[in-house]
Amino acid sequence: MAKPTLTPLEIYKALPGTNCGKCFLPSCLAFAAALVAGRLKLSDCPDLAPDQRQTLAGRLQPRESRETEQAEFMDKLRAKMGTIDLAAVAPLIGATYQDQRLAIRSMGKDFLVDAHGTVTSECHIIPWVEAPLLSYITHRTHAEITGKWLSFRELQGGIDWQGLFTSRCETPLRQLADANPDLLGDIIDLFMGRTIPWYEADIALILHPLPKVPILICYQAPEEDLESVLNIFFDECCAVNLHIKSIFTLCSGLVQMFTKIAAQHRSPPT
Ligand code: SF4
Repeated sequence: MAKPTLTPLEIYKALPGTNCGKCFLPSCLAFAAALVAGRLKLSDCPDLAPDQRQTLAGRLQPRESRETEQAEFMDKLRAKMGTIDLAAVAPLIGATYQDQRLAIRSMGKDFLVDAHGTVTSECHIIPWVEAPLLSYITHRTHAEITGKWLSFRELQGGIDWQGLFTSRCETPLRQLADANPDLLGDIIDLFMGRTIPWYEADIALILHPLPKVPILICYQAPEEDLESVLNIFFDECCAVNLHIKSIFTLCSGLVQMFTKIAAQHRSPPT
């Protein structure tokens, strides 16, 4: 595979540098890293000057291989959906079966999935939901929620993904919560979360990205010279119900969505 011709730092220098979050990432540097990794494209930064876009476009590695890989992965998941007995799997994954489709709640919103892996919803379908949703339905093992919370590294396979999880999920969400004190409260209202008491946390909220994949976000605000603390925990059933890579995808997608919500709240009324 061809090596990228630009480093994230070189790309960063050509970006607006406003860290506005419109690309769903917390900073321009994170956007530059995502470009190099092939996860985003130049047009995902709406504020990038046309001349800079043209210069960068000429020096970036093509994304085709990455897109092909993702498309093949989705094709495999959809093919696997055809082998699943939807009526039988529904109670195991906290879904209901109706009109030959599964109805699944994600973050308080309903999604319908048919035997071909086609996902529909009343709300906008967010691309990062689709793959974890189909992975969840087609996962071989199923477990009930236990109420025992584990850190990401304690989940099966979590240690291998820990560095990425910290840099893409916990750290940006902590920075976002620091900059937007009302954000976590808003998330509870928007996504049918609930709070629980948690040792030393100012706020501890439970969300259900998938019915049997509950996550717990614990946040302690900064105080005097102490930095804030944010940890994301998972019910121990999570790693049984979903592959660790899909858990990571789900969480990083959530953080990108929260970043966008925070940016919208900061925008002055037009
Ligand atoms: S959209 Fe992203 S890359 Fe573009 S200016 Fe905003 S934060 Fe930076």
